[in-house]
Amino acid sequence: MELRRIGGKMKKIVEIVHDIISMHISNDSVVADFTMGQGYDTEFLANHAKYVYAFDIQASAYELTKVRLEKAELLNKVNLILDSHENCDHYIKEKIDAGVFNFGFLPHGDERITTNVESSLKAVQKALSLLKRHGILVLVMYPGHVVGKIESDALYNWSQTLSSKFFSVCCIQMHNKVKSPYIIIIQKEKVMNDD
Ligand code: SAM
Repeated sequence: MELRRIGGKMKKIVEIVHDIISMHISNDSVVADFTMGQGYDTEFLANHAKYVYAFDIQASAYELTKVRLEKAELLNKVNLILDSHENCDHYIKEKIDAGVFNFGFLPHGDERITTNVESSLKAVQKALSLLKRHGILVLVMYPGHVVGKIESDALYNWSQTLSSKFFSVCCIQMHNKVKSPYIIIIQKEKVMNDD
């Protein structure tokens, strides 16, 4: 994976996330965007996978994403769900190849409506159970604001406790910029009995 953009600058986090996901999915894959926001990630996934489940709790995010997908003629490949990602198992009744959680708040929206540690932890745990063997979850953490710092610390610590028999966990972080967003990648190596 190339970390540089043309011209030499380091890629943005979202570009690195998309590179990682595109290496793991194909046009046969079923995937989930657990925080649709403005729909950039949903559109990216719909362009690269067979089918996408996308969640958000805000009607404005739902509408923005719907318009984006309509314009791109991708709406037929996506199930847009106006509900919290912690209920993902109510909607996804099949195994998925990949999922992305881009935590935080809707850019240009109400910053008080943000992902929070309790529901995020529940959702990520449910998403792990939905993963196929060798499937990946990509978590984008935002420690630069107060709620995001609590959430990212909790998820970082929790991800370190996952059994290495079943999961590989990797972190991509700007080591010299502590408040920068960073990525946690979890790959399911082995399926557990209750998956
Ligand atoms: N992936 C998005 C994109 O490509 O534009 C960016 C996501 S934005 C940083 C975070 C989103 O998470 C916001 O739209 C927010 O409404 C949503 N969110 C907050 N709590 C949520 C929850 N419990 N379930 C699902 N989405 C949630």
